[in-house]
Amino acid sequence: MKKKLIAGNWKMNGGLAANEALVKGLLAGLGTPACDVAVAVPSPYLAQVQGLLSGASIALGAQDVSAFASGAYTGEVSAAMLKDFGVRYALVGHSERRQYHGETDAVVAEKARQALASGITPIVCVGETLQEREAGQTESVVKRQLAAVIHVNGHCISEIVVAYEPVWAIGTGRTASPEQAQQVHAVLRAQLMAATPHADRVRLLYGGSMNAANAAELLAQPDIDGGLVGGASLKAEDFLKIIAAAQ
Ligand code: PEP
Repeated sequence: MKKKLIAGNWKMNGGLAANEALVKGLLAGLGTPACDVAVAVPSPYLAQVQGLLSGASIALGAQDVSAFASGAYTGEVSAAMLKDFGVRYALVGHSERRQYHGETDAVVAEKARQALASGITPIVCVGETLQEREAGQTESVVKRQLAAVIHVNGHCISEIVVAYEPVWAIGTGRTASPEQAQQVHAVLRAQLMAATPHADRVRLLYGGSMNAANAAELLAQPDIDGGLVGGASLKAEDFLKIIAAAQ
């Protein structure tokens, strides 16, 4: 059976002092987790958090990766650079990147490819907006987003992690019900099964206002293999409760 993965997404939050306090709080309460744990931190703090996590059972993650390998792309951070700082996972295609930075499915797929080429596991985020859900387009949207990645990375699709994050549930306090989440996860699993015999190995995370109170029920769904956690990953106590729910 695959281990669950609980990944925190700090987004554009934190600072040297706050990061240190948060990581120390996590390490103080973590023990030996039964699930895999990661934190995706802002790029300037990768070195700091790498140091704080040294020898700990929390993996380092990035929140984005360039679609280019190197060169004249001012402001971009390549997968190889992330690898230099011990990055194990990189979020790609988070809805905030798609929404505010115009990332298309093709760009997201290229980012996933770059990450894989450097030995970094991409956590590919997919999810529908409220408008799309209300128009009955949830399935077609997430299938299109996942198909772009399957298509580009055909041979190594089993090495990715997929996060289903309904856009209307991110940072809103409005979580998808366990049934709503499971329904979409089952669609994604079926799509992966059709693409690779190793689809069972792919971890499908749920993200969108996951917290200490709702995590256990979400994580008990058959096709939910972990969580991508934003707001609740910024407090050690809350994040530790979610990790405990994934045991
Ligand atoms: C996220 O940023 O991926 C996320 C799920 O945020 P939140 O948990 O705050 O909804």
